[in-house]
Amino acid sequence: MSVFEAFIRGIPKAELHLHIEGSLEPEQMFEFSRRNKVDIPFRSVEEVRGAYAFSNLQDFLDIYYQGAAVLHTEEDFRDLALAYFARLKADGGVHAEIFFDPETHTNRGLPFSIAVDGLLAGMKEAETRYGITSKLIMCFLRHLDEASSFRTLQAAEPWLHRIAGVGLDSSEKGHPPSKFARVFQAARELGLKICAHAGEEGPPDYVHEALDILHVDRIDHGNRALEDDALTRRLAKEGMTLTVCPLSNLKLCVVMDLKDHPMKRMLNLGLKATCSSDDPAYFGGYVGDNYIRTAEAVGLTREDIVTLAKNSFTGSFLDAASKAKHDRCDRRPRRRELTNEGAGGPTALKSRTNFIGAASSGETVVAIRPTGTSAGAPRSGGPRSQMKQAKPSHW
Ligand SMILES: [Zn+2]
Repeated sequence: MSVFEAFIRGIPKAELHLHIEGSLEPEQMFEFSRRNKVDIPFRSVEEVRGAYAFSNLQDFLDIYYQGAAVLHTEEDFRDLALAYFARLKADGGVHAEIFFDPETHTNRGLPFSIAVDGLLAGMKEAETRYGITSKLIMCFLRHLDEASSFRTLQAAEPWLHRIAGVGLDSSEKGHPPSKFARVFQAARELGLKICAHAGEEGPPDYVHEALDILHVDRIDHGNRALEDDALTRRLAKEGMTLTVCPLSNLKLCVVMDLKDHPMKRMLNLGLKATCSSDDPAYFGGYVGDNYIRTAEAVGLTREDIVTLAKNSFTGSFLDAASKAKHDRCDRRPRRRELTNEGAGGPTALKSRTNFIGAASSGETVVAIRPTGTSAGAPRSGGPRSQMKQAKPSHW
């Protein structure tokens, strides 16, 4: 692993935009289809991966809903969540706020309790096993009508003390946030946090509506807000968190080349951007890959990476005390600190860790201070001489 990769995977981070059904890897799809005796229209893992060539959001959603149909039991949802958290741990994740789509499951006959109880069990187990905290966000499918979202909110009532917020996902175009004004108002009155996908494929007006009609606490994606200068200034001024998903944007042709991704521009404009994976099994990478490939493509600096990681906590729905605790991990990089302990490379790369440092101008050094906690273990690092060679040119 290069210093560059170790730095990114090692820095503690939260993931704020993750659809748990979108973490269903093809291998799991086959496992669950066998377990539940459900037919799927694919004969091999390779065939599934071959089908993941999308030209827009709707192409993807058609396959996504097909995949989710193999999930039938609480155990399936629990196992799905645990598989995701194991990957998050390897990427330096310490907190996640995960979306699920109840209507995807209730509309095919599953009781509401199956998905929610299974996911909550997986989240609890992940905290015990990996030390990762998490929150659950219930999304309404915007291609359905408002009555369906009201039924979903009603069905969720016994679990509302364990659900942090509501979101809005699925086909964006033609389904503006205003279509769901009343159900979001009801959710707000119940004390739930509010987020909505806006400005992914939809126009800047949808971002305006999410702000002014839904009164969101967070915007999911928000890329197209950049087409509206006044809106961009407003988002920066209000410190509105954007949960940006670069590899998703590439896979769904929101950008045609990752080099054209607006992440760097967002940060330079003072927008509170974060980096997430969206539907990682379908889009070619989990959160660490999103950071790394975006950093390479648009030239993110260490300071940019630290800012993204810091934003992921300040933009989370954690309480102030938890945010303060995580903030200790997000200091600006200092010049060289520690590294060469033990055989085979820095202690920093072997144990997890509070991030405390970075590089001098001539030499790249990752400095990560072990915390003594058990959470996670970044992948092993190589000898320091090899690590220096792997430094990307803009670092
Ligand atoms: Zn999404």
